[in-house]
Amino acid sequence: MKAILIVCDGLGDRPIKELGGKTPLEGAKTPNLDRLAREGICGLVHTLGVGLRPGSDTSHLALFGYDPGVYYHGRGPFEAAGIGMDLKPGDVALRGNMGTVDEKLVVLDRRAGRIRDTSPYAKALDGMVIDNIKFEVKPGTGHRVGVVMRGRGLSSRISDPDPHEIGVRVHEARPLDGTRDAKFTAVVLNKFLEESHLILKELKANEQRVKEGSPPGNYLLIRGAGYVAEIPSFEERYGLKAACIAGAGLYKGVARLLGMDVIKVEGATGLPDTNVEAKFRTAVKALKQYDFIFIHVKGADSLGEDGNYKGKKEFIEKIDKAAKTLLGLKDTFIVITADHSTPCALKMHSGDPVPLLINGPGVRVDEVREYGERNCMKGGLGHIRGLDLMPELVNLMGRARLIGA
Ligand code: ZN
Repeated sequence: MKAILIVCDGLGDRPIKELGGKTPLEGAKTPNLDRLAREGICGLVHTLGVGLRPGSDTSHLALFGYDPGVYYHGRGPFEAAGIGMDLKPGDVALRGNMGTVDEKLVVLDRRAGRIRDTSPYAKALDGMVIDNIKFEVKPGTGHRVGVVMRGRGLSSRISDPDPHEIGVRVHEARPLDGTRDAKFTAVVLNKFLEESHLILKELKANEQRVKEGSPPGNYLLIRGAGYVAEIPSFEERYGLKAACIAGAGLYKGVARLLGMDVIKVEGATGLPDTNVEAKFRTAVKALKQYDFIFIHVKGADSLGEDGNYKGKKEFIEKIDKAAKTLLGLKDTFIVITADHSTPCALKMHSGDPVPLLINGPGVRVDEVREYGERNCMKGGLGHIRGLDLMPELVNLMGRARLIGA
């Protein structure tokens, strides 16, 4: 038995007047998703719990069966892992931008003119050691960078050095609790940022930028410090060899931290123009080598945050077209859900539960005829928490451990 889990980011929504009182998912033409629902079992998922507003990182952890209360200590590690940085328990990771500051360290541009490639900047800073803490710096996409601190006595309980706005001076990292580790981490990070600024100011790549009239990348604006905890791998936990197909870094990062392989797909961009069909086709092929494939599809979330209900509906139709590839697979469970709702009316994540369908051999097919928020309400799985999804799936796959004798 194999499984494909498709997480349509931000899929859930609320009724929209302009769509005749339907949600984008309910209003979309989705013959393939409807068929999977009709021949499967459905329900609603409260990814973090009833009424809780999930972040994308915490809700993915929950969907994979990892309690965010235990395993989540900030976003940085997921972003760093997502750009291919190897992390060890005890590390503190941050994410950020190459930014531009003036002589008084006032932020002029948070993305240094949307600098294209931060490689020469990251390379100049990578490997620095301060007070026995080693700093790894790696380029992300575009203006982004990842920073990993490695050594003894680190804490993620520090404030963001990135002031998150222009026209103000960069912040110093401050400890957020009274522990020695938090104080030490803040002090070392501030020394690193100061030293980095001196190096970046003199960098050749910046000389060139200034000549061209572009803002130089002369300061690391970093945020989201996160502690890397011991985390049992997905395979250890479920005995399933797993891989991830995603465009955006954060989701690859979650998968990598759980020990999943990351499969590259041409045209998987993490944007609404992403090639959903290529992702689904790649997943089906990868089932030869893997037991479990996690596919992340981002578009619906971004469109929800723009309040673009028409675009969201059309994007859902694009997912549906691609889902044709998933029909009729033998000995395979197809699970389609979301990490949270992103209602177009709110333009942000909400705590509304998300639709879930599980299609596969032997499921107790319920009365749900179409895939949608309110149809799934009537499904046989009822309301479950994100943390319940993997146990449910593993049981359906016939792999659940016997409790008792
Ligand atoms: Zn999300």
